[in-house]
Amino acid sequence: MAYYETTRAPGRHFLQIPGPTNVPDRVLRAMDNPTMDHRGPDFGRLGAQILGKLGQVFGTEGHVIIYPASGTGAWEAALANTHSPGDTVLMCRTGWFATLWQEMAERLQLKPVFIETDWRRGADVAAIAEALAKDTGHAIRSVCVVHNETSTGCTSRIDEVRAAMDAAKHPALLLVDTISSLASIDYRHDAWGVDVTIAGSQKGLMLPPGLSFNAVSAKALAAAETAKLPRSYWDWRPMLAANATGYFPYTPGTNLLYGLDAAITMLLEEGLANVFARHDRHAEATRRAVRAWGLEVQCADPRHYSSALTAVRLPDGHSADGLRAVILAKYNMSLGNGLGVLKDRVFRIGHLGDFNDLQLVGTLGGIEMGLGNAGVPHKKGGVQAALDFLAGNAG
Ligand SMILES: *Cc1c(COP(=O)(O)O)cnc(C)c1O
Repeated sequence: MAYYETTRAPGRHFLQIPGPTNVPDRVLRAMDNPTMDHRGPDFGRLGAQILGKLGQVFGTEGHVIIYPASGTGAWEAALANTHSPGDTVLMCRTGWFATLWQEMAERLQLKPVFIETDWRRGADVAAIAEALAKDTGHAIRSVCVVHNETSTGCTSRIDEVRAAMDAAKHPALLLVDTISSLASIDYRHDAWGVDVTIAGSQKGLMLPPGLSFNAVSAKALAAAETAKLPRSYWDWRPMLAANATGYFPYTPGTNLLYGLDAAITMLLEEGLANVFARHDRHAEATRRAVRAWGLEVQCADPRHYSSALTAVRLPDGHSADGLRAVILAKYNMSLGNGLGVLKDRVFRIGHLGDFNDLQLVGTLGGIEMGLGNAGVPHKKGGVQAALDFLAGNAG
């Protein structure tokens, strides 16, 4: 039974929203240890151990800064450490999360230039290239891209964004939000020349909410020396100074760090390439189920399909929130809601984090039953299509 549950529901709740995700028992057990003195000798060893291996998950040999904060805090840290008031930032409205980040940039007195999309694909690389080519005076201080847009299930091609920036010979920084892709979808901070990678604990990292991250390049650290936005709690410099000996300048989320230590170990034991392949496979099985139901995936460009989640469009006149409510009541499963312009139009299936074939089959089974219960027009056979694919029997 869940800790806070108003009516007894036997078995495990299916938490199939695209974050927070299911936390593995091994991580929960690691967190269930006494909180220690964060200035004592053992803490320094733990901190050094975590900081020594965390970069592998980001694909970096550089520094990764850990904040006791949700992902939104790491967004602010990334902007505040590298910009001055009035700086132009180039952003791409891939969906709801990109929009929230743009609103934050405005509140921080930056000047976002927003490239629109139809919320059915990733960042428009051609439009980014065009904006950079026009910016001969190099007013654009940074290009900010959400790698996996969690509101739409579309993944942007960061390698292509990097190539466009290189082709334009533009000196802007590249900031990437990987809050819902890190440790689920292939990502390479160093190889793709990313300056700040923003991440959070509660999605692919299989932890509860409460930690967030900035992986930083040497160029980003240099920018932090001259950037003029006010910052205190988020300042990278005291963090890095304390981290050099495994400590933090203020109280870290100690028990979440126990969990992080366990989660990194689990990811490296499985092998990151295997973790990514597992997510790709579950995403493909999910899309086959959706197509067999006769429904449509929100992402319209197969090159941008997300391996972390799938957003599914409902036929006109049918309520996605109504469907989700039926599935929660009858089958004890939470699915993600539609955000912004997609409110009530889509539901989102999270298939990221600590997840396997049979959990996916249960998830799709709950949806197929719920579609019938809610009277949403569909064809049967979605679960069967997924089974055939997962078992290697698909034609
Ligand atoms: C979840 C999410 C956020 C917000 O993170 P919080 O931890 O809720 O602050 C931002 N961007 C993306 C892409 C997300 O998936």
